[in-house]
Amino acid sequence: MSEKSPILIDGKLIAATIKEEIKKEVADILDHGQRPPHLVAVLVGDDGASLSYVKSKEKQSQEVGFTSSVYRFPENISEKELLETIDFLNKDNEVDGYIVQMPLPKHIDSRKVTEHIDPRKDVDGFHPVNAGRMMLSLPCYLPATPYGIITLIERAGIETSGKHCVVLGRSDIVGTPMALLMSRKGKDCTVTLCHSKTQNLKEICASADILIAAIGKPAFVTEDMVKPGAVVIDVGIHRIKDDSEKGYYVTGDVDYKAVAPKCSSITPVPGGVGPMTIVSLLTNTLKAYKKEVYKD
Ligand code: NAP
Repeated sequence: MSEKSPILIDGKLIAATIKEEIKKEVADILDHGQRPPHLVAVLVGDDGASLSYVKSKEKQSQEVGFTSSVYRFPENISEKELLETIDFLNKDNEVDGYIVQMPLPKHIDSRKVTEHIDPRKDVDGFHPVNAGRMMLSLPCYLPATPYGIITLIERAGIETSGKHCVVLGRSDIVGTPMALLMSRKGKDCTVTLCHSKTQNLKEICASADILIAAIGKPAFVTEDMVKPGAVVIDVGIHRIKDDSEKGYYVTGDVDYKAVAPKCSSITPVPGGVGPMTIVSLLTNTLKAYKKEVYKD
C-alpha cells in the first residue's frame, strides 16, 4: 500500500493507445477498398460546453480516420423537426452511429428523442433497448463514460474481484450503469450506490476499496472519506474561475491534493476519465460499423 506516491491512472495515455488501435483498424478497412466508419453528432443551440464536446468528438473521429459530420440546429428547432432528422439518420445507410448532444432545449422532450434513435445506431448507449441489454449482459452499446471507466480499470490492471466498490452518484448515464457494470460477472465487485439521500456517506465511502465519484460537486470527496490504499476514480469535470491567463482551472469531484497521498491509485482531472469517454464513443462507432453488436 502506498502512502505518499499513488499510481496515476493515465487516461490520456490509455485513450491515445486505444485511438492508435482504432486508427490501424480503419486504415486496414480503407486498404480493403471499403468506406470508413461514419459518426454523426446532432447539436441544438449554442451552449459553449456542448459545442466544445461536439468539436472534440469531431476532431478525434477524424484523427482515427472516421467520416465525421455535425448536424447543427438553432435553439428554436421544433421537436417534430428534430425527430424528422433522427428518422433520416436512422435510414441513412452511410451513417453507422450518431449522438444527440444533451442537454436539449426545454421545449424538446429528451426522453422522446432518445427513444426515437435506432438502437443499432445509438453509440451513446442511452436508448432503453441498449440499457436493458446492458442490464441482461447481452451485446449492446455501453454508455460512453462507464464504458471508458471499465476500460481504464482493465487496462490499468486494477484488481476488482471481491472488492467493495462505492459509486457516488446515481445518474442514468454515469452512476447507475457504473454500479451495474462493476457488480457484473468478470468485475465481481460488491457495490454500494450512493446518492443525495444516503446516510453515513462518509463512512460508506471510507469503506471502499474502489471509490468512483460522479457527483457533480467540485472537490466533494475529502481525505477523511477515503480508505488508505483505495483506488479512486474521479468522473467530475468542473471549470473553476481563477486569475490565470485562461481564466479558469479544471478540477474534479475529488479533492485531489489531499486525497492522492492516501490512495494506491487515482485518476487525475483533467487527463483521467475525460479522454476515455470520447474514445469509448469511437469504439462503439467502430462496433456499429462492423455490426458487432446488432448483426443486421
Ligand atoms: P448528475 O446527473 O448531476 O448526478 C449527480 C448525482 O450525484 C445524483 O445521483 C445525485 O443524487 C448525487 N448527489 C448530488 N449531491 C449529492 C450529495 N451531497 N451527496 C450524495 N450524492 C449527491 O451528474 P452526472 O451527469 O452523473 O455527472 C457527474 C459528474 O461527472 C459531473 O461533474 C459531470 O460533469 C461529470 N461527467 C464527466 C464525464 C466525463 O467524460 N469525464 C461524463 C459525464 C459526466 P440524487 O440522484 O439523489 O439527486
